[in-house]
Amino acid sequence: MSGTPRLSRRHFLLLGWFSRRRILHAAGIRFQILRNGEPVRKFVLIHGDEHTARRVLLERMRTRRPGWAFLVTQEERLVRLGALRFDPNRIFSREGAERNLRQLNPAVGEADLRLALQFFDREREKLVRALLPDRERLLVALHNNREGYSIGNEIPISDRVALNEPSCPHDFYLCTDPRDFERLAASPFNALLQHRPPPPDDGSLSRLAARRGARYVNIETKLGEEAKQRGMLQWLEDRL
Ligand SMILES: [Zn+2]
Repeated sequence: MSGTPRLSRRHFLLLGWFSRRRILHAAGIRFQILRNGEPVRKFVLIHGDEHTARRVLLERMRTRRPGWAFLVTQEERLVRLGALRFDPNRIFSREGAERNLRQLNPAVGEADLRLALQFFDREREKLVRALLPDRERLLVALHNNREGYSIGNEIPISDRVALNEPSCPHDFYLCTDPRDFERLAASPFNALLQHRPPPPDDGSLSRLAARRGARYVNIETKLGEEAKQRGMLQWLEDRL
């Protein structure tokens, strides 16, 4: 026998094992990919310091229901790019990335800024291709907030609002598809539609999803509200 060595059954078993523990590295951000069967829906945790959302998503993936999850591997919120720092949920447009880099790195020189923006321009599509689901399928992002941010910040730039739980302004769905909004508005939870949000584009994934006509839902709850976020995810999964 000559040529390439034959793969044994054991090799294939090992390949299967590793294929369930993949890493995506794009735009300087590192994600662990957890895969249950086909990507019938996708989930993303993009802010490493949102521990409640991470726990809820890991727990959901352990149920073995089908779907793929992308979890940022670092535990800090901001990502380092050389000497610069950026918010990983502000790079989905050049305009948003530039504003974010200037804001977080006030001393940045114009040459370094241009290099960073060129880097994001090259890498953005790789990240978007991995995260956005096939047509008609759903992308679910999980976020946590603290004091200083609530549904009140989003209402002025939303197309439609269902204030089903006014006493919980930190907990809400934010979606990009009008049909998903119809269903989410009938839930016991707050819901927002941002189908055609006005400028400026902040570079977030929800803006990109709206622009490309992708179905995206953000499940946003206050940090620590684990039962609430689990309940909102469960409600969505049973009905969307
Ligand atoms: Zn977040």
